[in-house]
Amino acid sequence: MRETDQSATDEPETDGTARWEWWPDYAPRERIRSLQASKLTRQASRVYANAPFWRRKFEQEGVTPEMIASVDDAPDLPYGLKDEYRAAQREHPPYGGLLCRPREEIHAEGGFVWESSGTTGTPLRFLCSQREYYRTDVNATCRILWMAGLRPGDTVAMCWPLTLWAVGHGIIDAARTMNVTVLPLGPSYSSEFRVKKLDQYRPAALMTTPSYALRLVEKSDAEDVDPAAVGLDRVIVSGEPLPESTREEIAAAWDVGDAVYNYYGFSEAFNCRSIECEHHDGIHVLEDLYLCQVEREDGTLADEGELGELVVTALEQRDISTGFHFRTGDVGRYTDEACACGRTTRRIEIVSRKDDMRTIRGVNVFPQAIESVVLDMTRLGNEFRLIHHTDRSLDGLTVLAEPAPDLDRTAYEPVRDELSRRLEAAFGGMSVDVDLVAPGQLDGFDFKAARWHEEDPDYDSAI
Ligand SMILES: [Zn+2]
Repeated sequence: MRETDQSATDEPETDGTARWEWWPDYAPRERIRSLQASKLTRQASRVYANAPFWRRKFEQEGVTPEMIASVDDAPDLPYGLKDEYRAAQREHPPYGGLLCRPREEIHAEGGFVWESSGTTGTPLRFLCSQREYYRTDVNATCRILWMAGLRPGDTVAMCWPLTLWAVGHGIIDAARTMNVTVLPLGPSYSSEFRVKKLDQYRPAALMTTPSYALRLVEKSDAEDVDPAAVGLDRVIVSGEPLPESTREEIAAAWDVGDAVYNYYGFSEAFNCRSIECEHHDGIHVLEDLYLCQVEREDGTLADEGELGELVVTALEQRDISTGFHFRTGDVGRYTDEACACGRTTRRIEIVSRKDDMRTIRGVNVFPQAIESVVLDMTRLGNEFRLIHHTDRSLDGLTVLAEPAPDLDRTAYEPVRDELSRRLEAAFGGMSVDVDLVAPGQLDGFDFKAARWHEEDPDYDSAI
């Protein structure tokens, strides 16, 4: 059931009884595009008039906001780039000329500060008023939790931290707004402790990264907990791309049918919350809040289905302007076909981080492609490492994997050879060195799995 006649308003109902759906999710494409065009023009005028960072960039590139008539003109706008934000914040701390209103004015209304997660370099600093935080991030989060099937009365276990990283705060506040109970299982709890709490509280949903959802399964054994018996209805994952094989493994281990919801966001555009619907056929973008485009290397717009970099404009970001025409560094594709759920919004698929990709002997290698192969082989464990050799005259790739814990040693060699054959097939015949290490050797990551290693680390072959 859905409401299509809800009027567009910036102020959602907050009594916990609202249906968290907005008319643009079901509007004809042309109507969505024209709504986005007017909001994009407004954003361009806003950042140009108010943020010194953007005024300078527009002037350097000879662009004015009046040049933007449609969303197809967006590639002409200057880009938001993480490195430039960092340099600007170093030079003009704390916000680098990226605020569209005086800082004092925002603080006078009560501010919300957050930072990027800082997995790659110095974190960026962000600020907005609490009013904007509720109007945009909390509103968007209610909508994506609703789309993932959470309803008033449910309990969600959340493994995100409540720190300067904003993602967890938005989920807590959204859950409270829509009468969902939160089980806060963020750091610094151990995996074993979290498993125990899941067993005791039996929430309807679990939110974490794909790799951590599987890590919890591994740890549940020691706590004598059967993940399938915890009674989860759904698992909501984000923070890493989600290969099909990982999705299936999470679904099977937690016994949630097909209810693994992939969800996407990043800090610069105030989390840019977006998520799959129950058909799991691409991630729906909340297009009244975010313009999400895919661009080719040369800066032109990619066609439907074509791989490129995701470039996003937060259309309702009024205080800080880091979400303006922002190059996300994520590689993906989109479709504008109407979804089986009835929504007409753009759906995206994220394939990899641009900086996760290595080009080895002319072949683009994504860790996710290797993960699919590894997880597909039941005689292997879930962990793997990639070693990129650049010290030789020719680039090389070594893949380390672990045999399944109960696998007989005599099977190690045939399993290694099978993995080698499958990887070569996946990379169009490129030869890949493969080795197995003893089960448990590749253990030792939390949340975001680090896959790539340079040169030869010390490892002991199990063969
Ligand atoms: Zn859908």
